[in-house]
Amino acid sequence: MFDTIAAISTAVGEAGIGIVRLSGKEAITIANNIFKGVNNKSLAEAENRKMTYGHIIDKREEKIVDEVLIVSMKEPHTYTRENVVEIYCHGGIIPVKKILELLLSNGARLAEPGEFTKRAFLNGRLDLSQAEAVIDIIKAKTDKSFEVSMNQLEGSLSKKVSSIRDIILSMVAHVEVSIDFPEDDIEEVTYEELEQNANKVIHDIRKLLETSDRGKILRDGLNTVILGKPNVGKSSLLNALLRENRAIVTDIPGTTRDIIEEYLNIDGIPLKIIDTAGIRDTEDIVEKIGVDRARESIEFADLIIAVFDVSRDLSQEDYNIIELIKDRKSLVLLNKTDLPNKYTEEHLEKLLEGKEIISTSITKEVGIDVLENSIKNLFYSGEIEFDSSIVVTNMRHKNQLEKALKNIEDTLYDIRLQVPLDCIEVDLRDCWENLGEISGDTISEDILDKIFSEFCIGK
Ligand code: GDP
Repeated sequence: MFDTIAAISTAVGEAGIGIVRLSGKEAITIANNIFKGVNNKSLAEAENRKMTYGHIIDKREEKIVDEVLIVSMKEPHTYTRENVVEIYCHGGIIPVKKILELLLSNGARLAEPGEFTKRAFLNGRLDLSQAEAVIDIIKAKTDKSFEVSMNQLEGSLSKKVSSIRDIILSMVAHVEVSIDFPEDDIEEVTYEELEQNANKVIHDIRKLLETSDRGKILRDGLNTVILGKPNVGKSSLLNALLRENRAIVTDIPGTTRDIIEEYLNIDGIPLKIIDTAGIRDTEDIVEKIGVDRARESIEFADLIIAVFDVSRDLSQEDYNIIELIKDRKSLVLLNKTDLPNKYTEEHLEKLLEGKEIISTSITKEVGIDVLENSIKNLFYSGEIEFDSSIVVTNMRHKNQLEKALKNIEDTLYDIRLQVPLDCIEVDLRDCWENLGEISGDTISEDILDKIFSEFCIGK
């Protein structure tokens, strides 16, 4: 049994209400010590899962700390499967802090980041991939990534992984039977069946892995860089895109403000525009930081939008950019087409060896919809309404799937060679365990700690 933990569960700042949460065997007793209900009703007398009105009292000084609503939820039907108490007090830094301090001085311990959810996992209410979905939901920046995380919380990934593990387990069972009753005809059948099942497992794991590229994009956004010499219209483009597509992002503590990131959401595709500090100042990144640094900044870009100004002759800087983007996933804008043209689209197309060029006049709002469509086409080949029921968004899951795929491919190889069945069993078990780490059925303590340390406190 675990000790009783407490934390402020809402973001600390000025707000209407703040919530302080407790979980553990003593949660109700500890909360009761600092609570005085209306008509002197104690928390222990209050009905399970019903709000009670009253005051938080510092009994040492007989002082009212805050006016609150409080609810106690008895195990096991709670978030953590332990006794849980939530105190709804006034928002603002002082009330929540004071109440938390009182709880701590009455025997609760300050919760570690993610500890409530960790308990939900350790007490069997969520599996690990579901617990991880909780982090993703909190951090989701677009509707689509939220939807995918919700599906994961509902257990979509767990169910799929567990169905693959079932096949592997039945393979192990077959192998064991054949080892124990080694008659020739049984062995023959076993190899055939094993091969069929191994192929099915390979197919299923590959399908999951295929979703992971999209998954990364959904989770983190496409790293996008807008490249172009000064005055070609980069900040105008950014602003035009932001006007319709700005994703709502709250400040995430700890993120630096040196590199400004803007999140856009183009029909469900999140773009993270990086290094926009340079763009915003209408100082140019190629000019300001030099070609080498620009090369560096685009190295990790999933998408480059290169902007050229058709009203001025191509300059050395333009040629540098053409070189930089030649072999990269990029979209090319020929901007300011409303002004007299100094060169033709065909000319630029030739220099870029046939890359598609989008003619725009950003100030006149011409061509921006074409750009948006091209972004969609580039990543989903026009197919943006994809099935989000299972998408692997988490790097850890992806790694485990890759390990499991290697195990099962090795197994298939051995099956075809008809190597002794006990050797095959080893790889099968590794595969089963590697998949089990996704749901947390087989997992070590330090990996668990690492996963939950990514959470915020109070969750
Ligand atoms: P940046 O330095 O690349 O960020 O360029 P800006 O977005 O600051 O644009 C430079 C100037 O070009 C501004 O005065 C814009 O209004 C203007 N501009 C941008 N796009 C167009 C366009 O399509 N047509 C015309 N005529 N002017 C544009």
